[in-house]
Amino acid sequence: MERRFSCTACGKCCHGLLPLTIDDALAHADKFPLVVMWTPVRQGGRSFRVTADLGITIQLKKRKLAAVRIAPTAYIPRTFPCPELTEEGLCAIHAVKPQRCRTMPFSAYRDEKDQDDLMIPRSGWVCDTSDEAPVVYRDTSIIDREDFEVERERLVRDAAILKPYAEWLLDSVPSLRMELQKIALKPGGGWVLVAFSTLIPRLPKVDIYTFAEKQVPVMKAFAQRTADNPGLAEFHQRYVDGAAEWETLARTQS
Ligand code: SF4
Ligand code: SF4
Repeated sequence: MERRFSCTACGKCCHGLLPLTIDDALAHADKFPLVVMWTPVRQGGRSFRVTADLGITIQLKKRKLAAVRIAPTAYIPRTFPCPELTEEGLCAIHAVKPQRCRTMPFSAYRDEKDQDDLMIPRSGWVCDTSDEAPVVYRDTSIIDREDFEVERERLVRDAAILKPYAEWLLDSVPSLRMELQKIALKPGGGWVLVAFSTLIPRLPKVDIYTFAEKQVPVMKAFAQRTADNPGLAEFHQRYVDGAAEWETLARTQS
């Protein structure tokens, strides 16, 4: 089985949530409104094994487990373009864009043998999957593996920080475990959002005040852009709360 795929740079996939490596989140803290997204995957789910390896597992009822992906994430509504997407549909930070964007259409959050459906363009995407496009995936193997491997390597490195962080937060905030268990059992799934500030103290050599100063204008800008849209009330509230939290922190220093 072969899959053909070529990016026509239509920019359509540059919308909505963007999972980031820790380094990418730190490098782009002045651009993206950051959260830590915790996403449970039930045992038997297709990405359970990778998610458990890179994240943590929690106990559900009847001796079942859920794996939880813990991902620094640019928290952007599905209908919003990435703030770095230009009007021409190009990436304004192409040379330094996040590894997640480089690995597209593949994802190191999944097993290599489980990438097949990622090359099927979603509604509105203008990816070229015609016979003219190059073969990029054959018999459950990625042909050009470089970016996939880089992303996996970085996720494994991040896991060394994110796993102990997650265990610590679960112990400190018991309601978080209950919330994750509830979401893991919901038919449609979902996620829990945690403030990025909880992760900063676990990151070596990150000055929280400088980081706060970068996040304040980003959170404020997104709060403003979502203010009059009742359908984005949850996003809006997260930006308002984020701006207030980072502003308080930034003020502490001055
Ligand atoms: S950083 Fe660039 S490639 Fe990545 S989502 Fe934004 S515009 Fe697209
Ligand atoms: S939707 Fe497809 S063609 Fe458009 S930018 Fe994304 S990968 Fe490229």
